[in-house]
Amino acid sequence: MRTGKIIYPSEPWTVTEHAFDIETNQRDETVFALGNGYIGMRGNFEEGYDGPKGTSLHGTYLNGFYDASPITYPKARHYGHPKFHQTMLNVTDGKIIELYVDGEKFSLFTGKVEQYQRQLDMRKGTVTRTQVWESTSGKRLQIRIERFASFTNKHLALIRYEVTPLNFTGELLLVSAVNGLVANQAAGGDPRAGSAFTGQVLHTKDSYEHETFGALLQQTTVTKFSLLCGMEHQLSHDYELETKLEGQRLEKRFRVHAAEGDPVVLDKFITYYSSKDYPEEELLRRATDELEIAKKAGFEQIAAFHKAYLDNYWQTADVWVEGDDALQQALRFNAFHLLQSVGRDGRTNIGAKGITGEGYDGHYFWDTETYMLPFFLYTKPEIAKQLLKYRHHILPKAKARAAEMSQAGALFAWRTIDGEETSAYPAASTAQIHINADICYALKKYVEATGDLQFLYNEGAELLFETSRFFADAGAWIEGRGFCLTGVTGPDEYTTVVDNNTYTNLMVKDQLEYAVKVAEDMKAEAPERWFELQAVMGLTDEELAAWDKAARHMYIHRQNGLIGQDDSFLNKPVWDFANTPKEHYPLMMHYHALYINRHQVLKQADLVMAMYTQGHRFTPWEKQRNYNYYEPLTTHDSSLSTCIHGIVGAELGYLEKAYEYFMHTARVDLDDYHLNVKDGIHTASMAGSWLMIVNGFAGMRQMDGELHFQPEIPDNWPSYTFRLTFRGSLISVRVTKDGTTYRLLEGEPVAIRHVGVPVVIRDEITLPNRKLEAVIFGSEHLLTGARELLEALRSRGIRTAVVSANPIASTIGHAIDGVDFVVDAEKLERGKPDPEAFLRAAEALGIAPKQWIGIEEDLSGLEAVRAANMASIGVGDHTRGSADRTVSSAELLHWDVLIEAFESKK
Ligand code: BGC
Repeated sequence: MRTGKIIYPSEPWTVTEHAFDIETNQRDETVFALGNGYIGMRGNFEEGYDGPKGTSLHGTYLNGFYDASPITYPKARHYGHPKFHQTMLNVTDGKIIELYVDGEKFSLFTGKVEQYQRQLDMRKGTVTRTQVWESTSGKRLQIRIERFASFTNKHLALIRYEVTPLNFTGELLLVSAVNGLVANQAAGGDPRAGSAFTGQVLHTKDSYEHETFGALLQQTTVTKFSLLCGMEHQLSHDYELETKLEGQRLEKRFRVHAAEGDPVVLDKFITYYSSKDYPEEELLRRATDELEIAKKAGFEQIAAFHKAYLDNYWQTADVWVEGDDALQQALRFNAFHLLQSVGRDGRTNIGAKGITGEGYDGHYFWDTETYMLPFFLYTKPEIAKQLLKYRHHILPKAKARAAEMSQAGALFAWRTIDGEETSAYPAASTAQIHINADICYALKKYVEATGDLQFLYNEGAELLFETSRFFADAGAWIEGRGFCLTGVTGPDEYTTVVDNNTYTNLMVKDQLEYAVKVAEDMKAEAPERWFELQAVMGLTDEELAAWDKAARHMYIHRQNGLIGQDDSFLNKPVWDFANTPKEHYPLMMHYHALYINRHQVLKQADLVMAMYTQGHRFTPWEKQRNYNYYEPLTTHDSSLSTCIHGIVGAELGYLEKAYEYFMHTARVDLDDYHLNVKDGIHTASMAGSWLMIVNGFAGMRQMDGELHFQPEIPDNWPSYTFRLTFRGSLISVRVTKDGTTYRLLEGEPVAIRHVGVPVVIRDEITLPNRKLEAVIFGSEHLLTGARELLEALRSRGIRTAVVSANPIASTIGHAIDGVDFVVDAEKLERGKPDPEAFLRAAEALGIAPKQWIGIEEDLSGLEAVRAANMASIGVGDHTRGSADRTVSSAELLHWDVLIEAFESKK
């Protein structure tokens, strides 16, 4: 895991590059990419790129616009293996503007570049490049280029090109073009990058032009989608215009007389319309209308609307972390790119690389529902809804896929654009049937967080029932075990096609429980819709009963006190980490998948992921034990891994570790930790950085429609603050070392739980992050003479427990006078220093470990207390340095000492 080296200067709202560097150009093209959820433009230079091959990826993409290509199998295609790839296309390049002086083209590769700066402004949503350039003939020019893709109009992108002659008066030639000769990058060695295409697949069919307007009509080869890319222009000065069509490139050539010191401004309006949205015959009319309206409104007004949209976005999406500029910048960069990447029309989604590059072919994965959708749910819930609508939109394809797989119901594709499965490697794709449950999990969270029952009943329920039907059909009842899901792959792609992946089984259990509940609610609240759906789907009460039974008897594999990632995982040899050279990571690039599969080694969070999404189904002790077991086996070769480990680590009290995971996650793209930002951003880990703050440090979980918080704060931050939209209200949460302040900013009061305690946020309320609620004595011997103390604790409502190896004490339970719970040391699976004894007490009394003090006189006991994330008191001088507070047995009997120990917990 890498953290540390910062590539761009730390600035709160901007990302700035002060020099152009060929070596890092392709990465910078991703970092400075702009998009509006539909149009995605890499940070290519308007004048083109004359650098060495392989140092630039010239790309413009449209979310969801793809062509298909037949998948070539070595022999005959196996039944059910997909026939086609889908690849998001590199489309008509509309961002070209060239500048000529004395016939010489402005380029960073010729003449002299005196000043250079490129800046992404995340408040304005623009990228601006400024440079002073001297031509070989000695003419100096200041060139300022600003561009953006409009957030308020998905079909529109704009460029303002401003040139000022600095030491001459004379003629300038500005050539603006659309170029249809575009192609995707061919595949190289990395399975995550490169397309199946080796040449142009988007063919030019026609061109149109009129005065300052020009357009190209193109069509894809296999899918036969049509695309029209149009351009319109506005100039500050008089010009002579010439139009040129050369091959597939349509140019508008503006000749302008420019005076020294007087800026010439060319505004270019670019539009894309495709037959995926409208009939082909409407594309030209729609594009011309669009451009005409845009030209009338002008660059400034459209930029103002664009900024207003962003102002509103930052109102809910911004996170403030005091005391760390680099982090602040990264969090904003991530939130900004997420907005740029997400489709908002219910027919498109958010790709693993957004629309910034060609990695993963522009495909949508489970990443959406598990990482990005939760981010949007609490910041822009209307976007979360559009993402779910997309799933409903492709439900017919999911049903067809289930049928093709000889199963009932619906199975969503592992990776897709339009709904069909496009992965030719089923073990790490189609076998990941958990994607169905991930979608339903997101649906459930959405409905709980918004109360949008209309969406649930009209669209969501169908999705939920069809996928539940799939699980009920795909699962098997196995004697002595219960309901089992065999032949599946969990999130960890280094362990494929196994039985009873725990993550999958728990997620499916959750989904089936929800499906039964929704069916019952619908019968009562929306009977008409229920009958309609019941009739269409042929749903019966027997089917609902079967779902209920499967949920209740879902099998979970346990072995040697651990929960198995699946039935066989714990029987495999552990990967030889000690002898794996650093350069052999990611493992999938250096070892055969089958070899990896034979070992206990993880690509990404799997059981730990289950502890995050289904945390309430694990006891604190189970979480601790299993986290400690699985975490060292995890390579984090997927960028989806670190944030989840950070979130669960924070919950378990591993704050330093969580912080490290967080820093890695937050700057994974800005500092290019995986060295592949050149292929596009990592949208899941970008969302993961927000999840780490909210679910990780603030410990927020949405359970049964209520927000629960368990706030912590890393040592080196004075405070952090974020906002959440929940059930139509907006709240802000500010965490400091002293406590957490909840404020109601808009809407009705919100009921939450703060460290387990119910609270209603009405205006503003500050609560301590930790509060002493229970005390545990490491042995009954420590209770000798503690009657007064026990009474003092009881009178303050503090619960007590004791670990006892004395069978009489434990069998008679409360017989140790005044103690609420006795942990029977004889019955423990693991002795101290394992935290089991302490975590079992926390579990029994239902109080989070961080609200406890553990009192111990032996060192291994104190280690166990610490491992349980409890404050510790060591009795006797020999414990000095091993506990938060060391006391003599006489001192122990004082309330003040307990409070001091609790407050000094590190
Ligand atoms: C991960 C998957 C993820 C995909 C796209 C893979 O490397 O293992 O979990 O869905 O990347 O981000």
